[in-house]
Amino acid sequence: YADKAEHEHEPDLTSPLESDSLIDSKKDNGGKRILQLARKEWGMMALGMVLLVITQVGSLSVPYFIGKLIDAISDADMSTEEKRDEMKAITYQLCAILGFTSVMLFFRGFIFNGAGERVVSRLRIQLFKAILQQEIAFFDKNKTGELLSRLSSDTSKLQDAATSSVSVFIRQCLSIVIALTMMFVTSWRLSCVIVGVVPLIVAFAVSYGRFVKRLSKKYTDALAKAADIANESIANIRTTRAFAAEDVETDKYKELIGDPDDPTDKVFCWYPKAMSTHKLGIQKSMGHGGFIGILGGIGQFTLVGMLYYGGTLVLEDKMTAGRLISFMMYALNVGMSLAIFAGLFSSFMEAIGASTRTFEIIDRDPALKLRGGVKMETVDGRIDFEDVSFSYPSRPDVAVLDKFSLEIQKNTKVALVGQSGGGKSTVISLLERFYDSTGGTIRVDGKDIKTLDQSVLRLNFGLVAQEPVLFGVSILDNICYGVAAKQVGEGLDRNAGISMDRVVEVAKMANAHEFISQFPEGYQTMVGERGIKLSGGQKQRIAIARALMMNPSILLLDEATSALDAQSEELVQEAINRVMEGRTVVVIAHRLSTIKNADAIVLLKDHKIVDKGRHDELMGRCVEYQDLVKKQLTAAREEGNGA
Ligand code: ADP
Repeated sequence: YADKAEHEHEPDLTSPLESDSLIDSKKDNGGKRILQLARKEWGMMALGMVLLVITQVGSLSVPYFIGKLIDAISDADMSTEEKRDEMKAITYQLCAILGFTSVMLFFRGFIFNGAGERVVSRLRIQLFKAILQQEIAFFDKNKTGELLSRLSSDTSKLQDAATSSVSVFIRQCLSIVIALTMMFVTSWRLSCVIVGVVPLIVAFAVSYGRFVKRLSKKYTDALAKAADIANESIANIRTTRAFAAEDVETDKYKELIGDPDDPTDKVFCWYPKAMSTHKLGIQKSMGHGGFIGILGGIGQFTLVGMLYYGGTLVLEDKMTAGRLISFMMYALNVGMSLAIFAGLFSSFMEAIGASTRTFEIIDRDPALKLRGGVKMETVDGRIDFEDVSFSYPSRPDVAVLDKFSLEIQKNTKVALVGQSGGGKSTVISLLERFYDSTGGTIRVDGKDIKTLDQSVLRLNFGLVAQEPVLFGVSILDNICYGVAAKQVGEGLDRNAGISMDRVVEVAKMANAHEFISQFPEGYQTMVGERGIKLSGGQKQRIAIARALMMNPSILLLDEATSALDAQSEELVQEAINRVMEGRTVVVIAHRLSTIKNADAIVLLKDHKIVDKGRHDELMGRCVEYQDLVKKQLTAAREEGNGA
């Protein structure tokens, strides 16, 4: 049943990542990779290992001394005084060893846990960097919440696996070797009993570890999915609230987490059903309980058997009582080590399960390489589209652009118009290299953009989106977003290149300085998550300032369709007109005034250019254009006529 169920549930939990041909998910070298994570820590860990040997020998000397103590007390050949002296001597030795061991234990714990922290921090940065390097299509397929869950919970699973677990593993190995040796030295007859049981326990633990690994992978996948639902509804709380959809969202979340209080929601069922984290967790706990029970049972019975057999040996004078006690303590030690060992094995397997996707992302080569191409400090601003075809990677059979050709001269303004869904935003996305075209070439200053380094984008392209998104930092930091990126790209401090005069200058050009100055904290005002504390018009003007800060030669604009209030609208429009001067501009236009000022208007429909020319030309010859102006630009026309 387990195999069948697993097979049937698998597709439900498969993230799109897995179906991505770029990812070789069959390569199951998770264990090796986890250990490699700690490579930089190997020096420290070697020191930790030395401490480990010392502490282990120290701890394991206790049963030996206790045995000696008991034998000294019960030795019939010694006088009471002799016994007392012997006892004192043994106790002093024991105290010295234990004191020293405790100090070493402190350092050992500190070294291994510290290494774990360093490993997980490195891993998180590595993963975050890898996520940000991915092409935009990757984000069309993989959801934010899921990626965030990988970043937080999956990475922490790996934290111990790479370091402390290694320490515990070696410690237990060492403990088993020392204890077994001591057992053989103490009594070879009794030792044979325990040696017979060990392979049984090991075999059991190994198969259990495999089971845990499988369950754990499903568990983390289900958790990542739940995290995604949570992320979407929390991030979009205003929409959730507006539709009073809190309960729906909670239900969706509950479906993935599972409802522990729902009696109809059985943990084990004989028909395929998507597994909730709760169910998987319960299965895990059940497996865990069974494991402890069986292993514990084997251990206890072995112990009882040994005690009986050992007692017989003492009666037959083949060993002393003190030695039997030492032996039992060593045997307990071995038993405990084996149990810890098994637990460790299962948590390591769990870590491997959790790590699979983490490593998949880290190893993934972005389909679109942004770094390492030709660098251009300045760009004149000529743009050529030559027979560009494009379909979105998520919908490869739908052509969004089909042999799209367009030449844009330096310092000219091209307006893209057309019905919604015609491909206007796609043209801008291709220029920003959110995606690469599937056919044809796009050139900037005659150079194929696929051969350019991403710094060309940063330095020469300015983007003002329809609904500009700001970061939840200060206005100043938002305006300087590109400058900071430039500084970091050049290996400098992120704030080094900021000139307040320049910031004020661009804010004035963007009609933003006035309202910014009215805030009590001015440019240091925090804008709230995604700029939520600002009005639409204010956000737009800050976004314009942000684009202007880099003095880009090419400006990509998506005019807002949503109406701002008249005054705000005028300020935004004025700012846009001002910033368009002296640059190559590609604008998705919704206003007649913008269209009238454009050097060329491109009418897009059904993946193709229907016509292009100046406003008057198109009005004269293109029925579809006339139609568009009449129907879609009504509001703007009134504005245009009024002007
Ligand atoms: P416009 O800007 O003219 O309204 P778009 O360029 O946004 O048009 O969209 C063109 C077509 O591409 C539409 O059919 C749209 O559904 C599709 N599309 C847009 N973005 C994506 C995406 N990320 N993944 C898949 N299809 C998309």
